[in-house]
Amino acid sequence: MWLTIFVLISRSFSQKLIELMRTLTLCLTFLMFCCFASAQNDSLSQKITIKLPSTLEKAALVNEIEIPIQSHSETQSVDIKGEFWDTTVYNPYKNTITEFPLNIKFEDSTYASPISRKKIITSRYGWRRGRPHKGIDIDLITGDSVVSMLDGVVRFARYSRGHGRTVVVRHYNGLETTYAHLSKIGVKVNDTVAKGQYIGKGGNTGNSRGSHLHLVTTYKGEDIHPEYLFNFDETNTMRSKDIWVTRKWTRPSYHSSRRLSKLALYETKEEALASLEKQRKVYVVRKGDTLSRISQRNNTTITAICRTNKIKRNSTLRIGQKLILEL
Ligand SMILES: [Zn+2]
Repeated sequence: MWLTIFVLISRSFSQKLIELMRTLTLCLTFLMFCCFASAQNDSLSQKITIKLPSTLEKAALVNEIEIPIQSHSETQSVDIKGEFWDTTVYNPYKNTITEFPLNIKFEDSTYASPISRKKIITSRYGWRRGRPHKGIDIDLITGDSVVSMLDGVVRFARYSRGHGRTVVVRHYNGLETTYAHLSKIGVKVNDTVAKGQYIGKGGNTGNSRGSHLHLVTTYKGEDIHPEYLFNFDETNTMRSKDIWVTRKWTRPSYHSSRRLSKLALYETKEEALASLEKQRKVYVVRKGDTLSRISQRNNTTITAICRTNKIKRNSTLRIGQKLILEL
């Protein structure tokens, strides 16, 4: 952390020199206390302005002090480009094996909303029209500014088949956020971007039906359900500063793009591992059941049921038949 003090000289009174010195010492002590306090709290604003009491103003050299605060020295030192830094391919982690559960830690508890209007999700992470939808679609108007959700470095900024004009930002915790279907790219690869910094304009490029932002959250090549990590409401908060991600949150087939899965959050490795044990459940088919009804009521998908039980989508269900549900 560094600080600068802007001293605004109003008037000098030579006969009051001793009094001034005393005031200045007092101010500096107060400033040091403020800085110490801000170091404990990362949600403070980017600067502190202190107005001195009017009684002191006449005598003091200083009547307003502004201290800009930069609190990212820790994160900036992380070698973001250390591994798999490839600015030419969308996913440089293609042939790596991921160990689950993944751990994602955030320094902040808030993110910058990628668009400035209200976030309306038109399609979720999950199975869609027989194909995986690996991000969420947020409604926008072509030309709307799109900003980086967190501090980071631009890893990829080019046209990509399907995604259209695309920007990928890698953040200091290893998470990558992808902003796709842009009408204009406003950054270059290797650019450092701050949380909330402009990266391009929203649009409808690539394989897209109407203007929207296709937002993907990826960790070491694994696409993670964005709503498992972030609250896409007006609070712009992370769901936790310490998140454990099981394989389920990296597989669209466990989710439907049309409704939100139950988002039970795991904040410790133990919770995440325990959740894996109760993931299989035996379901006994009842009168009137259909695959669609069973999947909806148990928060899974028809595709997942068919795959686990090796049955077809149009298979006839018998009353009393046992199905394994992977939840
Ligand atoms: Zn999409």
